[in-house]
Amino acid sequence: MTAPHTDLRTGTHDPLHLPHESWRRLYGLACVRCGGGQGLRPGGHAYTQHPDGGRLGWAVQICDDCEHDSKSTDSKAS
Ligand SMILES: [Zn+2]
Repeated sequence: MTAPHTDLRTGTHDPLHLPHESWRRLYGLACVRCGGGQGLRPGGHAYTQHPDGGRLGWAVQICDDCEHDSKSTDSKAS
């Protein structure tokens, strides 16, 4: 399944299989949803699997456009 817009906040990701571009999102350098860099603001958390079996949370950023979008589409933001 390939989606042009992958919201990294969905699910728990395997860090060994994340493309470089996804790391920019995890580090908050790009929008967690579309990968853009306009008007970024705190956008919740994304999670990667930890070798110990737990998961690691990343404080991610979201851009203006996706912020509007996700407010109307998913209401379980917190
Ligand atoms: Zn975005």
